Amino acid sequence: MPTNNVPVSATTRKRVAQRASYICEYCLAQDEGSFIGFEVDHIFSRKHNGSNEESNLAYACPDCNRNKGTDIASIDWNNREIVRFFNPRTDIWAEHFRLSSGFIEPVTVIGKLTVDIFRFNDKVRLPDRGLF
Ligand SMILES: [Zn+2]
Repeated sequence: MPTNNVPVSATTRKRVAQRASYICEYCLAQDEGSFIGFEVDHIFSRKHNGSNEESNLAYACPDCNRNKGTDIASIDWNNREIVRFFNPRTDIWAEHFRLSSGFIEPVTVIGKLTVDIFRFNDKVRLPDRGLF
């Protein structure tokens, strides 16, 4: 049973959005012009007792937030190891991903699992990056 059922305050949501410059901190989609409002993601979800502290919050597009869900890690089947997702509070985006003709390519295992689980390169998402 999660202990954190307190909603993130409107003030905190606004600070998180401003800190991210209104860009999804996972896939870099821009909030401006999107039809669906972006969300504040708990990097370590409430299900895992993640806090409402700003150090545990990320600004996320609805696609990233939905695909991530309450997950915090996935499995690298090459090594049969559990690997955490990219953490925008402690990781540097360009160390885990690179943009290539609008596609987000992983550079690390953390990047690969994040790209796969968050489904960064789904066809329906590519028009937002000017593709197709
Ligand atoms: Zn995103």
